[in-house]
Amino acid sequence: MFLVLNAGSSSLKFSLFDEPAGDGGDPVLRHRGQIEGLLTGPHFIARDGAGARVEERRWPAGEALGHESATQFLLDWIAGATGGRRLLACGHRVVHGGRDFARPVRVDETVLGRLDALAPLAPLHQPHNLSPIRAVARFMPGLAQVACFDTAFHRTQPWEAETFAIPRRLTDQGIIRYGFHGLSYEYVAATMPALDAAARRVVVAHLGNGASLCAMADGSSVATTMGFTPIDGVPMGTRSGALDPGVILHLVNRAGMSGAEVEHMLLYESGLLGLSGVSSDMRALRAEAPRNPRAAEAIRLFGYRIVQAIGALAASLRGLDALVFTAGIGENDAALREEVCGTLHWLGIRLDKTANERGAAGTLGARITLPAPASAWVVPTNEELMIARHTRDVLAR
Ligand code: ADP
Repeated sequence: MFLVLNAGSSSLKFSLFDEPAGDGGDPVLRHRGQIEGLLTGPHFIARDGAGARVEERRWPAGEALGHESATQFLLDWIAGATGGRRLLACGHRVVHGGRDFARPVRVDETVLGRLDALAPLAPLHQPHNLSPIRAVARFMPGLAQVACFDTAFHRTQPWEAETFAIPRRLTDQGIIRYGFHGLSYEYVAATMPALDAAARRVVVAHLGNGASLCAMADGSSVATTMGFTPIDGVPMGTRSGALDPGVILHLVNRAGMSGAEVEHMLLYESGLLGLSGVSSDMRALRAEAPRNPRAAEAIRLFGYRIVQAIGALAASLRGLDALVFTAGIGENDAALREEVCGTLHWLGIRLDKTANERGAAGTLGARITLPAPASAWVVPTNEELMIARHTRDVLAR
């Protein structure tokens, strides 16, 4: 069995995979679930591989569970639920691998120290990602642990895609475009050959609460919209996306906002929420849009910036063979896919409306375009499976 952990500031998500029966197959999902509300009243829910609920537990409101206690609870629950079956390894989602970690790595004390040192690059995520690694090491010493990074997939980018036009000394200090959502892009890159083996120049739109796009040439990242931080690129649920840096200077130097206030505004008060004044959630905005012009405008601006990003990324690929939509909005919002694809005739995309409405339900992925020079697809992402594959592979190295 492989355990996959994805720890956020207030939640700990897990997936448990069995080894495949034959050689060479994918790990098979056995259980998945999460403990949410770690700081405000934890709520544990576990499902089986088919999505049926197998366990639920609530702690009293106001009670808090640290990452360490949450990990301990989870390990105990897994031991009970699986009759004490042996874990082979634990794979972790870690947001930042910096410049050095271009692929998953087995964690030891030295590696953990280097990952700790990257915390200033992702202060809101990295410490949370690392705390379950320490907890597992304490409760199950000797268990192999593998860190899988959101940034690693992008380390194939050429220098000009990765570098800001700022003084070299800052680049040398590591102020570069790291890119994120790498595990999702890697999963899509691994899936595309089975769907369209001829697609060599692919743009993937990962549109969830966080959103970014990536240009892939022969399955490798050559450019992406997120940069030094996951604030850059297209607008998101609550994040602004790319902004004239002069706006920040104006707010801090002349409008009396502190750096911390600007940071909070860009991370939590902007994007779809800031534009609509209603919600960061696309489903809520769709429901609101017919009677609220601001909700409709938020969706329109979101689509516009995605279209612009696709154009820029297609330029960096010198053309486009396939466009892929993935993550919560990309997989489920047929209207957004239609709005975006409707502007992309010039790139050879002609939407098949029936296929687009159908989406990818239950499949590896589905084509949503008519036969044309370029195709568009819906591919449900699976970052947990990608981590499970990496964990297995690192163990076999
Ligand atoms: P995260 O980045 O947190 O993993 P998800 O990939 O789960 O986010 O995406 C969440 C987003 O997907 C939300 O904006 C949500 O409204 C949107 N979403 C989920 N289902 C649908 C749907 N059926 N139609 C439109 N948007 C949807």
